[in-house]
Amino acid sequence: MPDPSAWHAMPVQDVAARLGVDPRHGLSAADVAERTERYGPNELAQAERRSPAAIFFRQFTDFLILVLLAAAVVSGIAGDLKDTALILVIVIANAIIGFVQEYRADQAMAALRKLAAPTASVVRDSQPAQVQASSLVPGDVVLLDAGTAVPADLRLVESARLKINEAALTGESVPVDKHIEALDGDGLAIADRRNLAYKGTTATYGRARGVVIATGMNTELGKIATMLGESHEPKTPLQTRIAKFGRVLGLAILGICVVIFADGVLRGQPVLLMFLTAISVAVAAIPESLPAVVTILLALGARRMSHRKALVRRLPATETLGSVTFICVDKTGTITRNEMRVEAIVTPGAPDIARDAPGEPLDSLFRALALSTDVLVKADDGLAGDPTEIALWEAAAGHGIDVPGLREDAPRRFEFPFDSERKRMTTGHAIDGHIVAYTKGAPESVVPLCTSVLGSDGPHPVDQAIVLADAERIATEGYRVMAVAMRPWESAPAKASEEAVEADLILLGLVGMMDPPREEAAGAVAECLSAGITPVMITGDHPATARAVAERVGILDPRDGLMITGAELAQLSDEELLDKVTDIRVYARVDPSQKVRIVEALRARGQYVAMTGDGVNDSPALKRADIGVAMGKVGTDAAREASSLILLDDNFATIVAAVREGRRLYDNIRKFIKYAVTTNSAEVSTILIAPLLGLPLPLVPIQILWINLLTDALPGLALAAEPAARNIMRRPPRPPNESIFAHGMWQHMIWVGLLMAGITILVQAGTIESGDSHWQTMVFTTLTLTQMGNILAIRSERESLFTLGLRSNMPLLGAVILTCALQLAVVYIPPLNPIFNTQPLSPMELGVCFAGMAAIFFAVEIEKLLVRRGVLYRSR
Ligand code: ATP
Repeated sequence: MPDPSAWHAMPVQDVAARLGVDPRHGLSAADVAERTERYGPNELAQAERRSPAAIFFRQFTDFLILVLLAAAVVSGIAGDLKDTALILVIVIANAIIGFVQEYRADQAMAALRKLAAPTASVVRDSQPAQVQASSLVPGDVVLLDAGTAVPADLRLVESARLKINEAALTGESVPVDKHIEALDGDGLAIADRRNLAYKGTTATYGRARGVVIATGMNTELGKIATMLGESHEPKTPLQTRIAKFGRVLGLAILGICVVIFADGVLRGQPVLLMFLTAISVAVAAIPESLPAVVTILLALGARRMSHRKALVRRLPATETLGSVTFICVDKTGTITRNEMRVEAIVTPGAPDIARDAPGEPLDSLFRALALSTDVLVKADDGLAGDPTEIALWEAAAGHGIDVPGLREDAPRRFEFPFDSERKRMTTGHAIDGHIVAYTKGAPESVVPLCTSVLGSDGPHPVDQAIVLADAERIATEGYRVMAVAMRPWESAPAKASEEAVEADLILLGLVGMMDPPREEAAGAVAECLSAGITPVMITGDHPATARAVAERVGILDPRDGLMITGAELAQLSDEELLDKVTDIRVYARVDPSQKVRIVEALRARGQYVAMTGDGVNDSPALKRADIGVAMGKVGTDAAREASSLILLDDNFATIVAAVREGRRLYDNIRKFIKYAVTTNSAEVSTILIAPLLGLPLPLVPIQILWINLLTDALPGLALAAEPAARNIMRRPPRPPNESIFAHGMWQHMIWVGLLMAGITILVQAGTIESGDSHWQTMVFTTLTLTQMGNILAIRSERESLFTLGLRSNMPLLGAVILTCALQLAVVYIPPLNPIFNTQPLSPMELGVCFAGMAAIFFAVEIEKLLVRRGVLYRSR
């Protein structure tokens, strides 16, 4: 490989020769395989992934666990080695559960990252193809266009006004113009090598073709950013809040443990026993795994969303999706199918000429379409690219034009690419020694540049007003309308500037394309409305087209829905916009840059906004929105990088499904916290209060640890499988800053915890009173079973279990049955009795324990009944 600093100084042919590639055809599969072997994958070195062993050992580094182990060893030496061994076993079992949970979360996150891995457009074996960016090798031919993230360091070999934003590398935020000429000078700074494109930067305009000169760690980015691949997931607001809550709760429990210890010692209990008891309570009740479990639930939720074609790029989005109040969507592809078909052709002066009518100007029109479109022809002769462009190509082919042949005969000499601000594009072609420039785009953008119109007998002066009225008429029927024009030049215009070329045009005609709404769009709109979410359509299309589509899917009410155009929006002051913004349902003919204003006005009105986008110019709005949503199919890399959610199918209904999933996930996280904290508060209260009432210590340390092991792990996680509540899309969005403990959760955790402790202590006092020697086994079993009564009841925040049915969450039912069975095992299997300090219970005694379980279950059911009646808490 030549000195990497020299690529910019070489002419294109030398670069190609040195890299052994023909830039038109690309590398062969054999070349790629051989070079992959030699140069390795195009990846930046990643920070070490956590190994499974590291995750496992981390489970033991918790301070309290260490104290517990130390205490167990001391107490073992002092007397009972059996207890020490069992504590060890339980701690290891706990570690295994913790390990499995963390490992699964890691795996789920890694799988998501893989799905979101960047791709690159290449030419290999003379065919265009999409490949994983990591598979690029030196010599690969890469295609760039507006919005593409540059996947490796490239020497450009073809450029149509390519501009690249190199801020990531140079800090310069103004995009730089690129070209292909060889550059002089050795010591050129990176920013001055205008014929190179660097990995990590983004094309913002134009198109280009480049040859890979460096991959992976050999790229400029690789050199300066060794650790860039290190991905520290930012914590979600919920994770942060839960971690803080866990710390406060932990300190409180630690305080209580000190009281339990001191109280026991003062009552004359052995110091070592009390120490072990207090530490066991601390280990059991301090919710150290709460943040980890919340992470797991979020990661699993994100994975479920990806199965529904919504790919989460930032974990916080999973949690906040349920709070969305406004969804601002593009029309094309999101609401509509993006399967364009040319269905109306109007040549001015001769309205609605049948498409297959012969002769000028129709032939010129179709020739223009054939030449000016940007479409990739795939190996199987299929077409790839923007559906609008494909539709135009196919219309030309349908008119009998040999499109590939014509394109070969009339090669492109220059072009001004399409962008959604100008809403038009121009290409210049060499035809019979002359140059012909074709311009196509939105009628308001193209027609004013036309001075004449082509009739069957040559150009006539044009009446722009009539043409625009024609365009309006077609748009009203829901067509996407485009005007097509041309301008012949004797020779290539000296100064090929947009102003010079796009002037004095001859209009060829209007093309109307149909893009029908997606079948599921109307249903998704209705679901949004019932869920308190306002769908808003933002489109670059004509107002009449926009209105027709918006009315059809229910976004715009035909009687009083408000629609404004980009031009009207530009006229509004910020205050006026703020005033109206929550009433506007459709924005038509807007520039992507105006989307930022819309997002900001909505947010200023306290709305929680999801916004879709696909182009480079959408990035600022995607970043500004609470949830930026990028199109997975037609979206650019730039849009994807600015977003927190990617729609793999570009479908509006998928956003709504993701919102639904977000709401379900949040509900289930709430339930999990509710369950875990209630359980812990019951354990702590029982062990604290019983001795204060003059009763003996209710449980031995092993039993405390067992209850924790049994009730925390399985049943808690099974709550994640809880299906969405029936009314989940019929209740208003949750305010994003609402406390996770809202809607009576605090109260529930305290009263149910105390009730469980009360019932348990009652069982203890009653059985001791009646001289029953099995009292401890009963206390032990009652405390475990009441947790099961609670978890069955809190599956829903308002519906009765009798409505939900036991079988609607089979994992949970299984977990509850398994937990009960394990508890019965330690009570009834004789060898386990001495280990757990238990005795077999009589049916009557066992009945008392199950009665405790039933009491909790019905108490919580009554709480829900009161919620349904609107007596308790604000209903959801
Ligand atoms: P949305 O924002 O809903 O995706 P859109 O995709 O229609 O809307 P743009 O792509 O910005 O918005 O298109 C705006 C207008 O530009 C279209 O109405 C059409 O007239 C014109 N236009 C779109 N694509 C092309 C193209 N490839 N060549 C020329 N003109 C185009």
